[in-house]
Amino acid sequence: MYKATKILATKAFEAANEFIAPRHCEICGHLINSSIEQSKWVCSECEHRFIIAPTADEIKNKMFRNIEKDESGISNFYCLYQYNDEKGFSVLIKDLKYSGFTRIGSHYGSVLGRKILSESDVIYDFVIPVPIHFAKKRERGYNQSESIATAIAKEIKSSCNFEIIYRKVYTQTQTLLKSNERQTNVEGVFDLKKNHPELKNKILLLTDDVLTTGSTLNACAVLLLENGARQVDIATLAIAV
Ligand SMILES: [Zn+2]
Repeated sequence: MYKATKILATKAFEAANEFIAPRHCEICGHLINSSIEQSKWVCSECEHRFIIAPTADEIKNKMFRNIEKDESGISNFYCLYQYNDEKGFSVLIKDLKYSGFTRIGSHYGSVLGRKILSESDVIYDFVIPVPIHFAKKRERGYNQSESIATAIAKEIKSSCNFEIIYRKVYTQTQTLLKSNERQTNVEGVFDLKKNHPELKNKILLLTDDVLTTGSTLNACAVLLLENGARQVDIATLAIAV
């Protein structure tokens, strides 16, 4: 509970200081001229060094190295940046995930929403954040994927829905596991909420912060397809390549 309180305090501090205190780049520490810089989290020099994510086809090929083709439930991928750059976008993901800077999710969620609009004319019925376990949410104070989903839904004029799936099993962070452990680790982890909306023929967009092996997102996608959804695509801010 202490951690959640600390994060809430961070968020309040962040909001109060937005228009008063000068901001420093989260990566290089240089002062940011917020009236000129497009993103107030990093200076434009650092932002220009972010490595663009691979194409959707390349991501699909990478995923099929971890998940059998006939077990894949995901039709399309949208992703902004690569994660494995030490002084790059991963710094912002860690701030979003562990330091309570949920507005990083909102900012880059909007950027991702515009990318989706430019690449696709699919109309999504619902945008769904990948759920975290309620105990983890209580500990962290928030689910980082919700700010991303909310911003994307607003940008693509869809509905964000938190009432469809939930995580019923508390799992350790996927990145700490070996590839074959990750695969089995997500089986039976998610389930549908009791009064979820009708999913028959719905086209859904799942969101998360980082795509690693894809097994977590795929487990959600398969569950949604088994319950009537027509298509499930995914949108993540980063991909660990
Ligand atoms: Zn910088």
